[in-house]
Amino acid sequence: MSFISKSACLTLALCLVAGVAHADTQVEPQTAKKMLNTQSQQFEQQVVKVADNVFTAVGFHGANTSMIVGTDGVIIVDTLMGPTSAGKAMEAFREYSDKPVKAIVYTHSHGDHTGGTSAFIGRNRPDVYAAENFGSAEGVNEDLRPIAGKRGARQFGRSLSDEEKTNRGVAPANTYDRDRGEGFIPPNRLIPQDGLKTTIAGVEIEFHRGPGETDDAIYLWLPREKVLFSGDNFYQAFPNLYAIRGTGYRNVMKWSDSVGEMAKLKPHALVPGHTTPILGEEKSVEMLSNYSEAIRSVYEQTIAGINAGKGPDLLAHEVELPKHLQDKPYLTEFYGSVPHAVRAIYSGLLGWYDGNPSTLSPLEPKLKATKMAELAGGTAQLTEKMEAALAAKDYQWALELSDHVKWLEDADRKRARQVKIEALRGLAAREYNAPNRNYYSSYANELESGQLSEVWF
Ligand SMILES: [Zn+2]
Repeated sequence: MSFISKSACLTLALCLVAGVAHADTQVEPQTAKKMLNTQSQQFEQQVVKVADNVFTAVGFHGANTSMIVGTDGVIIVDTLMGPTSAGKAMEAFREYSDKPVKAIVYTHSHGDHTGGTSAFIGRNRPDVYAAENFGSAEGVNEDLRPIAGKRGARQFGRSLSDEEKTNRGVAPANTYDRDRGEGFIPPNRLIPQDGLKTTIAGVEIEFHRGPGETDDAIYLWLPREKVLFSGDNFYQAFPNLYAIRGTGYRNVMKWSDSVGEMAKLKPHALVPGHTTPILGEEKSVEMLSNYSEAIRSVYEQTIAGINAGKGPDLLAHEVELPKHLQDKPYLTEFYGSVPHAVRAIYSGLLGWYDGNPSTLSPLEPKLKATKMAELAGGTAQLTEKMEAALAAKDYQWALELSDHVKWLEDADRKRARQVKIEALRGLAAREYNAPNRNYYSSYANELESGQLSEVWF
């Protein structure tokens, strides 16, 4: 049985899938590469003139930074990860205006939007605007630093070789991160719940609170220029409603609502937090409306399924984008993934328990592995099935079987580890969801180099 995303089918005529694909985002290796290469054009380094007085620097780091030129100064929206890349973006901006920086705006508190501030400011410290609850959004619990660091590195493919690297879904694969956060300057002008309308350097500007990817998200509206800065609640890829590096619940319905509010402004230009700006009212409004609808639909389908008594494993395979949205390139699952979103909504609202009494107290993994071997007719037969799955490129099944074989003391556990590595690489090659792809490849490398303990393997 083959599950290929219909969006991939329709937009890229990629319906010829041989072998067995297990997720919506699995296609033929060459197709996956081609799709990711196309997506990489979304963050090629350039400065885009969004309006006569608005410029957006794309591809100087993972996120975008923008400059709004006013009468006696400029406003900078988001400041990248660190001063090195921010400095380069500022240099590029200086071709368009040499006026002093009057204000900095953080669309939200993530490090890739806030770490390079010092590179934008001169002797006079400008006001720094952000939401009143800036930084409250998620923040990794300090207790979880060790694992959060590892999982983040896998999701973003930080340790991958140049051949293994493609991109990060909405950001390039290679970013300069050694000065991460070094240029951060805390906000001193806090935006209240009901927003703020003001004029800075002669530019009329509206700050709206718009929770979504983070609770502390704001979006910016320039009513005269009709330019909207969405922050990370919109970019050209299916939204990362859940991040596999491990994050708390992101309020999916608020996210949909915030994007819906943005559409109502009818922007003539839309500047996303990542990926290239969109010029033109029709396109901007259509994208925002469809984005909001896509998120809402995933939420509503999941809720309906939950209320019908279905668990996350089943729902993750059932929920899909509405038919008329499946061919939209900006909703392709390069970054977020529908099945992951479904699981996040489930656990975010109901916790880990799926409601099925069989899962209230499941068998201990080693005991289950022993029983699986018995079922197969013995350890040798279970191992054969695992090898057969790998040979048939049924990679997900090979992975699942290797996770049983690894516990069996009379098994060739080294071989099971090798099968897991090869299955992960098989999945990675076929994967166009960048976080999944990076995670599979990184994990395979860690297994191969012996970095992972027996528990992980
Ligand atoms: Zn971001």
